[in-house]
Parts: sequence; structure tokens; C-alpha cells
Amino acid sequence: MGDLFDVADVSAARGTLRKMGIVPGEGDAPAHYTLRAGEHRLALNVHLGAGVRLTHTGQIHCLHCGRATRKSFAQGYCYPCFKSLAQCDTCIVKPETCHYYQGTCREPTWGEQHCFQPHVVYLANSSGLKVGITRKTQLPTRWLDQGAIQALPIIEVDNRLQSGMVETLFKEAVGDRTNWRAMLKDDVAPLDLVAERDRLLASLAPGLAALRQRFGETAIRTLALDPVSLRYPVLEAPRKVVSHNFDKTAEVSGRLMGLKGQYLILDTGVINLRKFGGYEVEVAIE
Ligand SMILES: [Zn+2]
Repeated sequence: MGDLFDVADVSAARGTLRKMGIVPGEGDAPAHYTLRAGEHRLALNVHLGAGVRLTHTGQIHCLHCGRATRKSFAQGYCYPCFKSLAQCDTCIVKPETCHYYQGTCREPTWGEQHCFQPHVVYLANSSGLKVGITRKTQLPTRWLDQGAIQALPIIEVDNRLQSGMVETLFKEAVGDRTNWRAMLKDDVAPLDLVAERDRLLASLAPGLAALRQRFGETAIRTLALDPVSLRYPVLEAPRKVVSHNFDKTAEVSGRLMGLKGQYLILDTGVINLRKFGGYEVEVAIE
């Protein structure tokens, strides 16, 4: 990621979309959003209420190798990269299927740098209670990307495989999905995540004991942290969620009503910018 610079005074910027940069606000302030298109970085919060126009040029470039591709795979990759990069393998979505020890990791060095790092199992509230995992260094970005309003790390483990095994256990009792429509509508009641954690740790104690037996007594460490609250810059949540799609309509425009997760909330509909990683767009603030 390049240096941050505001192109608010530039009428248009053109470049390949990447997921938005999101950093938490200080204290009670909402998160700060940065649109990333090629070399351009556009701070979005200051444009709340303004007209925004994104126009897909028809070009899609792989986020990894830059080659032109007719279709994007795994939110921004060309087909060859999708088939060869470890980060596009199914074990990233299903970490409990990590196959590094079978000697079949697509990129063992990448795996060592990313998967063999401390991972955290967390509870979050994006559209209700859910469980998730991430590399420790990805917090709180991961929660902001999901539009979570509350989050609580509950267990730390040594690697991605172990986090997947713990998550699989928790999925017996709690979901791992976000209902993005409910998340965007702000139709989400606050939860007592500490009480949820204690309840789940108690009911899943036998399963956790079995995992500790398998991976070692100290491998799966229960955390005693305070929940985190996350806030988003939203002028008005949509009452009805209609989504824009560059594959159907090249030009997406409207008044910027808010930012939550990886979504731009316009008065004409919402768009998940992460889904269109690799799409070349022209960006204009009007
Ligand atoms: Zn590629």
C-alpha cells in the first residue's frame, strides 16, 4: 500500500480497485475509510453526503500479477493465480483442512509466513453472534471488514490449522456467517460477548480438552480480554438493501450515506467493493 494522499481536489481518479483501507476511530469516533484505486488513495469520511460516481471501465486486472482477465476469481485474481496461489486455496476458507504437513501446500514459504503465525478465535456481532478466526496481526481490520459492531478475542493458538479446529468446534454452537443485509440496515442488537464467551467455553469444554490433548496443553490458550466496540461513519442506514453490481451496470452513482464493512452505502443502493477487487474504475466526487 502506497502513502496516503487525498485526491479530494482531483475531479477523477482511475485505477484498479482494492478492498478499502479501514482503521478504527479514536475513542467513540467512527472508523476511517480509504478508497484504493490503483495508486490513488481517497479518504472517504469527508465525502459523506456528497455525490460519488464509480465507473467500471470494462478492464479487470489480477491483484497479484496485474494481467488482464475477463473474469475475476476469489475477489480479484486471474485464473492462473487463483489456481496457484496459496491464499486462493480452499484451506484459507476452511483452515481445518490445512494440508501443509502433507507436503502439498501450494506455496510453503507463504504458508510459513501467514499460516504458521499466532491466530485468534473471536466472537463478533455483525448481524448477531458469530465465531471467526484470523491472524493476530489482522485485528481489528478483520472485524471492520465484516462490519462488526462488537468483537471479543477468546482463544489464541499457534497456527491457522489449530484455529480452524477450534472454530469447527465452536460452529457446533454458533454460526460463522454475517447476514450482510441485516448488518447494513443496522438491524443488530448489542450482545453481552463476555457472557456468550463464558457460556460457550463451558459448554464446549470437553471438545477443547480433546484439542489440547491433540496439540499440547499450552497450544490452545483461553484469553480474558474486554470486548471491543466498533463504529462506522453512517449518516443513514438503508431501510431496504438494493445492491449495485459492476457486472450488470458499469456506472454506479449516488449520494454517499455511509460506510460499513467493505460496503459503500449510497442512496441508490449499496456496493461491496471487496467483491470487485481488480476491477478498473474511474472515481469521481461530485
Ligand atoms: Zn494473476
